[in-house]
Amino acid sequence: MRIHAIETGRVQIKQAQIAGRGHGLRRQIQPIVSLEWADWVPVYAYAIEHAEGVIVVDTGANAGLKSLPRWHPYFQLAVRFDIEPEQEIGPQLRTLGIGARDVKTVVLTHLHIDHDGGLAHFPDSRILASSDEIARASGIAGALLGYLPNRRPKWFDPEPLVWQRRPCGPFQRSAWITKAGDVIAVPTPGHTPSHVSVIVRDGAETIMLAGDASYLEATMLSGTIDGVSGDEAAAKATLADIRDLCAQRPTVYLPAHDPQAAARLSERRAVPACDDRRTQMPAAVAS
Ligand SMILES: [Zn+2]
Repeated sequence: MRIHAIETGRVQIKQAQIAGRGHGLRRQIQPIVSLEWADWVPVYAYAIEHAEGVIVVDTGANAGLKSLPRWHPYFQLAVRFDIEPEQEIGPQLRTLGIGARDVKTVVLTHLHIDHDGGLAHFPDSRILASSDEIARASGIAGALLGYLPNRRPKWFDPEPLVWQRRPCGPFQRSAWITKAGDVIAVPTPGHTPSHVSVIVRDGAETIMLAGDASYLEATMLSGTIDGVSGDEAAAKATLADIRDLCAQRPTVYLPAHDPQAAARLSERRAVPACDDRRTQMPAAVAS
């Protein structure tokens, strides 16, 4: 299976958003009040060339994000985008020879602005997202939480993911995206309460398209939650589940903003600690 990492521009956020500092409200206010900007990081979306049609996981940013609503303190003080129209996902897919009509399915890990920003390029695709995330990201309440529902295309009406009791590694529930069952969504709550990730099983290799489950592979490994997750325990449990998955099978871990993600994908380089831990695990781990 060919998988493409598509860099839709760059984003700059605070160091305290990438690696949360302190606990509770203090941790959650740091991304806004801290003055310590992190380096610019990529905004990745992913495209999977699958026999059942191309699947896009997250749609990245758009050039309109260079101008953000001034009334929201997060937009005013905590985030900056650097992206030109030709860096949006649509033109980049065309360069790869993938037209909008080739994309049968779009899966959104969550609806933050740098994940739903390229939706306008997919008017004919089936769009899947968690029903609770769709509700959370809507209306005035959604805007207060830092979503931009008014900038989504008018036709945006995603199909809710339907969870089944079909375990995938440590994840007890899953939603198959392909009939073949080789592209699967799993719940990874934390960054947002109903955040999802997509697991691709390509022969012996497992690739996890993790959205913002963590910003970096390193923070996933160290169990360091970000600065915006509301539920600290849920976020930590998700990072532990991801480490369990990596321990059970070699997993290439690809969050949306990890500067090393594209290199790891092209080399199919699994999380290193996973290989170490796998040797200590029982060989048979179902599905
Ligand atoms: Zn996010």
